Amino acid sequence: MRCVREYASSRYLEETGANCECGGFLRPSVVLFGEGLPPFDYERAEEWTEEADLFIVLGSSLLVSPANLFPRRAKQRGARLVIVNRDTTPLDERADMLIQNEPIGSILQRTEKYLNA
Ligand SMILES: [Zn+2]
Repeated sequence: MRCVREYASSRYLEETGANCECGGFLRPSVVLFGEGLPPFDYERAEEWTEEADLFIVLGSSLLVSPANLFPRRAKQRGARLVIVNRDTTPLDERADMLIQNEPIGSILQRTEKYLNA
């Protein structure tokens, strides 16, 4: 959290109390609740939303902006929308496919096997 050095996820997940060489805390490289999207990532998400034929939502309530704006926009453009989330979302009725009873990890593993077959 102090510098921009990056480490393999195993260091964060497997070592208790792992710190950076600079002494700062390690944190996952994801956007946490309440944080803004980095500007570059936001622009890239906008571009990909405009180009997508298929938009897959993984583990989001779709209640928080700006994350919930991207699938709405993709759907408006004619992309197919798949929502994988344990609970219902405001976009469920507009989704082409809903998956609510399967952990995201197992879905991604099955997808990877399918893509590598
Ligand atoms: Zn550091």
